[in-house]
Amino acid sequence: MKEAPLYKIFMISEEKNTLKKLVALQIAELEKEIELLESTIKPISPDSAYGRVSRMDAINNQAISEAALRDKKTLLDRMNFALTKIDHAEYGFCFRCKEEIAFNRLKSIPYASHCIKCAGR
Ligand SMILES: [Zn+2]
Repeated sequence: MKEAPLYKIFMISEEKNTLKKLVALQIAELEKEIELLESTIKPISPDSAYGRVSRMDAINNQAISEAALRDKKTLLDRMNFALTKIDHAEYGFCFRCKEEIAFNRLKSIPYASHCIKCAGR
């Protein structure tokens, strides 16, 4: 069995540390954004506080905020999941072809389970 060169192992652990920091930062950022969005989403009262048109606007804005909130929560789940996986030996390898996933891809999508080639299929 061929041993992996030492520098390679070192690089990998360095890369994993970089990714962990990156993911932790993004999680903190997402949690702030979610909190902010949740505070802006309030029930729209049916009373005359709004005119008819601005009430429609308020409902539309609310729908946009709710969609954004859902997206951010999904992303937060994925980031948290990635954070628990980074230390695993199989992290960073493509689920399909078992090749290494490019570091740049992992930096932008830390929860990527496929390399760019297999993801494009
Ligand atoms: Zn692949």
